[in-house]
Amino acid sequence: MVWLKRDLRIDDHAPLLAAQGFDTTVALFVIEPEWLQSPECDASHVETCLTCLAELRVALAQRGVPLLVRTGSILRVFQTLKADYAFTHVLSHEETGPGWTYTRDQQAGQWCMGQGVNWLEFSQTGVVRRLRSRQGWAGSWQARMDTPLRLLQGGFNAGQTQTAQLAVDDIPTLASLGLAPHRKNLQAAGERAACQTLKSFLQSRGRDYCKALSSPLTAESGCSRLSPHLAFGTLSMRVVHQATEASMARTNDPSLAYGLKGFSSRLRWHCHFMQKLESEPAIEFHNFSRACDGLRPGDVQGGAAPFGDADEARFQSWCEGRTGYPMVDACMRSLVATGWLNFRMRAMLVSFASNHLWLHWRTTGIFLARQFLDFEPGIHWSQMQMQSGTTGINTLRMYSPTKQAQDHDPQGLFIRRWVPELARVPLPYLATPWTMDIAVQRTAGCFIGHDYPAPVVDDKTAMKAAKDRLYGLRSSAEAHLQARQVLVRHGSRKSGLPPGANRRTSQNTKKTETARFVQGDLFGQDSE
Ligand SMILES: Cc1cc2nc3c(=O)[nH]c(=O)nc-3n(C[C@H](O)[C@H](O)[C@H](O)COP(=O)(O)OP(=O)(O)OC[C@H]3O[C@@H](n4cnc5c(N)ncnc54)[C@H](O)[C@@H]3O)c2cc1C
Repeated sequence: MVWLKRDLRIDDHAPLLAAQGFDTTVALFVIEPEWLQSPECDASHVETCLTCLAELRVALAQRGVPLLVRTGSILRVFQTLKADYAFTHVLSHEETGPGWTYTRDQQAGQWCMGQGVNWLEFSQTGVVRRLRSRQGWAGSWQARMDTPLRLLQGGFNAGQTQTAQLAVDDIPTLASLGLAPHRKNLQAAGERAACQTLKSFLQSRGRDYCKALSSPLTAESGCSRLSPHLAFGTLSMRVVHQATEASMARTNDPSLAYGLKGFSSRLRWHCHFMQKLESEPAIEFHNFSRACDGLRPGDVQGGAAPFGDADEARFQSWCEGRTGYPMVDACMRSLVATGWLNFRMRAMLVSFASNHLWLHWRTTGIFLARQFLDFEPGIHWSQMQMQSGTTGINTLRMYSPTKQAQDHDPQGLFIRRWVPELARVPLPYLATPWTMDIAVQRTAGCFIGHDYPAPVVDDKTAMKAAKDRLYGLRSSAEAHLQARQVLVRHGSRKSGLPPGANRRTSQNTKKTETARFVQGDLFGQDSE
């Protein structure tokens, strides 16, 4: 039995390939109540998953493998299925998921042992299970990604009589699962859409990647948009990596080669961040640096406490895109409407919530997880903490929403698109509409405090207060001790790469890398 999780594809699928060696094969996807009820789950995630399953069912059926989609807790589904179909092996990919998947995998493992069922797990990313040290991790990532692709050749064994009797029920709908429809305008889902997205990026869209990725206007088409496909597993990281390397080698367009080089270096960040959650699952709930415990209100054992009234009001203004800071509000509204936002603007949203509004990253992170169609817990919680200054090792970064608007939306196109109340505000005031005098407000048809909110906090005062707190904390002996521990456990190591593979060798570069490593820069993250 091939147990599908976040690997909803045919190509480069080790469990499916391994299943070809067995007499009969059935594929199973379980819609677990633990997932549907988890705080990070949104109807948009479920709908995307169902779309992928519908496409995959057809592709598997063409190869003679039924795809069962069952709803229920894993042990109950396994038990029922075992009665109908005496499976001897479970084949699946490893998963680095939220806490509930960790618990579920432990239960599934015990159940399999008790039933004499062999559960074989395969890796599909660069994440290393039971990793002892980060030394050499980058080299191991490279080696895994360079391994030849596992492509299915031919069909499965003919002895499918047993599986033919299994009930292949209809794939559920949002309504049948008791979920309300979402209102997002999502990018296309499924393995076919994933391949088309990859192809268009590698053939042409990637040309301007490095220039395009910072502005939300250009990033929309200039970034690869592969993140949801990697999250649902409709593409494997190895396929993306190898296709990118091949395109770089093939092209004689220097701009495209340059863009793809920048892109290719970011691919390893994906696994680098996931590795943190794999190595320390508690970072989903706790500060990386325990010296930061108590820094923001709400730090309690096992997560964040509910906000008080004042914080709740600030939180709501942020969620609704009504903070009074046009760039923050435009980004949030765009994200809520589409399920995607570029890296820099995600970082700005979190920096604003964690620093300007001084809100706990766990609660804001849950809200964002529901909005991101590409929610990937290892990346998400690491990034939430990096942008909130609680890793204890990264350079502290705070984004001024006004400067971000001036730098990345200089004509105000993005703000006007997503915050229509400001459509007629003159450009010089667009990033700071509260500075309009009453006559300008009247001409613009936008009264501050009536048509558009006044700023929820003062930018400079809030940033200074946050900096004072964070830098103050960092200078303590406890913070230094914690930083060293976090660095040993999670800091990036560029060693272990094969000669010539993305490794700079000059003396100066070596010095820079060492300096960066000491301050805990994670794969050049701060250079973006
Ligand atoms: C607070 C916050 C939360 C985030 N949460 C997620 C998340 O849940 N899921 C997710 O996939 N990304 C997350 N990111 C990282 C990044 O914003 C997205 O990977 C990127 O915007 C996805 O768009 P893309 O595929 O077009 O990216 P591209 O720029 O085309 O990059 C290609 C791929 O490289 C990887 N990548 C790129 N940048 C990063 C990065 N900074 N960190 C890790 N991997 C990276 C991703 O797999 C991405 O799909 C988060 C960033 C922040 C600041």
